[in-house]
Amino acid sequence: METIIFATKNKGKIREINEILADMCITVVSMEDAGITVDVVEDGKTFAENAMKKAVQIMEISGKITLADDSGLEIDYLDKAPGVYSARFMGKDTPYSEKFKGIFAKLEGVEEAKRTARFVSCIAAAFPDGRRLVSDGNVEGIIGWEVKGENGFGYDPIFFLPDRQKYMAELSAKEKNEISHRGKALRKMRILLEKELVK
Ligand code: IMP
Repeated sequence: METIIFATKNKGKIREINEILADMCITVVSMEDAGITVDVVEDGKTFAENAMKKAVQIMEISGKITLADDSGLEIDYLDKAPGVYSARFMGKDTPYSEKFKGIFAKLEGVEEAKRTARFVSCIAAAFPDGRRLVSDGNVEGIIGWEVKGENGFGYDPIFFLPDRQKYMAELSAKEKNEISHRGKALRKMRILLEKELVK
């Protein structure tokens, strides 16, 4: 059984990943489980750049196949902000309740058709032998008018899914996995990894 490292400290992501990669002949462990504590500086201009930088850096330390993701929220009316700065938007320690107020203020009076937004996820894999893989996924929605739902994390409570007439934070973990940016990117990565691991 191959052990693959996922370059994240977020236990929620590891859970999602193990659910989606279940029944493959690999075990995915977090950086913490692998005893790696470095902080990779996410200074890339794109999700792909940040994901690959993290994957390569942690692969070089661990000597094992390493996956990393970078994700965020793009709001069309704000020229795709906060984008790669999603975690740091209005300050990295600012509570999401404040970030939501900031976004609502910027979208004050903006009609529904112009409130379009998407979550984007990019996943990169770095192999010690030099192979590199990248996959991505997104989910389209709109920035809603209220804060709703208890599930998920980050911007989920203000991300409204018109098809379902629900906010992302109202979905169960299973429902979110089925439609989410990360779920889609991970399922694509699973296919790419399956091809590489049989080589
Ligand atoms: P990172 O990929 O862990 O760097 O996350 C970037 C930031 O994007 C997170 O801190 C959240 O603010 C936002 N984000 C990424 N994925 C999600 C999601 O599934 N729901 C809500 N917010 C998300």
